[in-house]
Amino acid sequence: MDISVVIPLYNEAESLPELHAWIKRVMDANHFSYEIIFVNDGSTDRSWNVIEELGKSNPEVKGIKFRRNYGKSPALYCGFERAEGDVVITMDADLQDSPDEIPELYRMITEDGYDLVSGWKQKRYDPLSKTIPTKLFNATARAVSGIHNLHDFNCGLKAYRREVVKNIEVYGEMHRYIPYLAKNAGFARIGEKVVHHQARKYGKTKFGLNRFVNGYLDLLTLWFLSTFGVKPMHIFGFLGSIMFLLGFISVAVIGFNKLHDMYCGNPYRLVTESPYFYLALTTMVIGTQLFLAGFIGELIARNAPERNKYQIEKEL
Ligand code: UDP
Ligand code: MG
Repeated sequence: MDISVVIPLYNEAESLPELHAWIKRVMDANHFSYEIIFVNDGSTDRSWNVIEELGKSNPEVKGIKFRRNYGKSPALYCGFERAEGDVVITMDADLQDSPDEIPELYRMITEDGYDLVSGWKQKRYDPLSKTIPTKLFNATARAVSGIHNLHDFNCGLKAYRREVVKNIEVYGEMHRYIPYLAKNAGFARIGEKVVHHQARKYGKTKFGLNRFVNGYLDLLTLWFLSTFGVKPMHIFGFLGSIMFLLGFISVAVIGFNKLHDMYCGNPYRLVTESPYFYLALTTMVIGTQLFLAGFIGELIARNAPERNKYQIEKEL
């Protein structure tokens, strides 16, 4: 099979028939053998009925129905596990990504030798409240991942060599950093293609600003793990020792001051006399410990085996 198209979707019933017909048109015109994997991520609208309907008369349509809404990353991951095509294409279900890009994306993987080609929505039809945080986010992602040639990490339209999707695990908000995951897995030939983008025709966006916080935490922990390996606890132990030393020194200084005060009068009062100094020091030490404890929690949560568990209710 040439191509697997993986489409994660949450409440996109109105778009699906149009999207399916469009993909089919492009595939048939280019004589591709293909499958379309719709991953229904707990939609509460008629999306699943529409997929079942499409499946009846179209053997290339496959559907997976999650028991509830898990998020775009688990939906993609599930599609990646099923995909059988040599090239795997992901696209959003809302008709913002154009299936007309598929043949060129396919060519870039099979002929130009890319492992992954990411779409670049150079001219974007989304509100400013979305495009500005996205600019910020892309700049961070570029700096952290060291993939400097990508403008648009989070574009839903991407093409992969099959080995790539079989060797990465997309969880949490990781769909934003798939090129980084691929690079960490050893797939270094990452390219970009300017793609046509359209305004949303039906329904509304599922992503708000709150997802950016989680998205940044995912990036921070991913960067940490891929930079320092799987033994970050050494670093925490090291910082902990320094904190302990700092506490020890301050106790010694206070003790010395007190004794000196009692027996010789104190010419060394300096800054150590101020209670605010100790308050600040204590706050700093406790703050650092809490931050590190929280960070360890974030690391553990992202490595828990259930980070990507999803329940499937039905399949076709
Ligand atoms: N999506 C999903 N699960 C979610 C949220 C979104 O599968 O929890 C799908 C959604 O249906 C669409 C794609 O992910 O196919 C991108 O979502 P959306 O269009 O809302 O994002 P935007 O284009 O606004 O960034
Ligand atoms: Mg969209």
